[in-house]
Amino acid sequence: MKFSAHEWRGHFPLLANHPRLHYLDNAATGQLCAAAFDAVTHHELTQRANVLRGTYRLAEQADEAYEKARRQAAAYLNAAGVDEVVFTSGTTAAINLVAHAFGDGLKPGDEVALSLAEHHSNFVPWQMLRERCGIVLRFIPLSADGRLDLSRLDAAITPRCRLVAVTHASNVTGAVTDLAPIAAAARAAGARLLVDGAQRVQHGPVDVQALGADFYAFSGHKVFAPTGVGVLWGRGEALAALPPFLGGGGMIGRVTAAATTYAAPPRRFEAGTPPIAQAIGLGAALDWLRALVWEELNAHSARLAQRLIGELAALPGLTFLGPRDLRARLPIVAFNLAGIHPHDLCQVLDAHHVAVRGGHHCAQPLMDCFGVEGAVRASLAPYNTGADIDALLEGLRDAQRKLK
Ligand code: PLP
Repeated sequence: MKFSAHEWRGHFPLLANHPRLHYLDNAATGQLCAAAFDAVTHHELTQRANVLRGTYRLAEQADEAYEKARRQAAAYLNAAGVDEVVFTSGTTAAINLVAHAFGDGLKPGDEVALSLAEHHSNFVPWQMLRERCGIVLRFIPLSADGRLDLSRLDAAITPRCRLVAVTHASNVTGAVTDLAPIAAAARAAGARLLVDGAQRVQHGPVDVQALGADFYAFSGHKVFAPTGVGVLWGRGEALAALPPFLGGGGMIGRVTAAATTYAAPPRRFEAGTPPIAQAIGLGAALDWLRALVWEELNAHSARLAQRLIGELAALPGLTFLGPRDLRARLPIVAFNLAGIHPHDLCQVLDAHHVAVRGGHHCAQPLMDCFGVEGAVRASLAPYNTGADIDALLEGLRDAQRKLK
């Protein structure tokens, strides 16, 4: 059956409740899909109990639902094993977990390589590690349009490099990182590779085995699932080599007054009560997404983004951040209109029922590279239609009339 954005919208309860809303802030948060909504409701109404503790039937049902979610996440990522999936509260928590568990084993002078296009979630934890452990941070430079400059990897990934942490796709420019040369350089240096998948996962299943990564992090709320849950995938051997980060219930082997032994992954990294209902919702969303024909969905979003880029280019005073062509790009379009602050633009657009984000997008080092304080960002999902683009363009013309 041919993909229809209008039909797809029907799977998102909020969009049905807000027929006039033009939601173009999908890079911040995707709307909750019915599959996730139904799974959470079913769990809360029929099987709510804590997990991995109880021996009564209700608790066993909750255990099974939670572990099913782990299998569903493993399938979406094509993980080699279910135990490679650790539930966290989101991408930020997943990256911080690695920055502590892996990072605390580093010595002064060891190096971590990042790019300047990272979200603060994949930037600040490494700066904090530098303060704790005296590591050296090296940065993969960017080309003028904000892509990682792969011709200059040597400068950032040296023989002292212990970990490379890069985004799979920029939340500002939508540029998708070509990970193969980075994985090869990391391997050659004997370094681990952590990939921030927060933006990429919304646009179809990922094959972590093919990427050559050791760790992959993403958030549920960006894949049309609940907030408060995310995944850290770790290659079996890479996870097994890590000590725990947080201590508490559920992550132990045996606790005595003298010492504690730890459970094997993934439990070792899931101290305390996990986000149970959220993980179940995430699993259901990922299962639903995995069955879709992503070539059609992505072709639809790319067509809309191409049209948006074309029409924006005709507006006087408009500048883009990032590459204009949609090759190796997600449908994320960031721009500025001369003389108008991004927040003011967002307010005028809101009056047109257009929801977009304006600001630095938690990517200030990238903004510095572009020489701007911030930008407006329209980010598309397959439920967006031509009417959303029309409303955005109309709102921008209105803003130019009102604010200039
Ligand atoms: N990394 C990227 C590329 C992102 O776009 C985001 C959120 O926008 C994050 C990390 C942080 O995700 P979260 O706030 O869900 O932890």
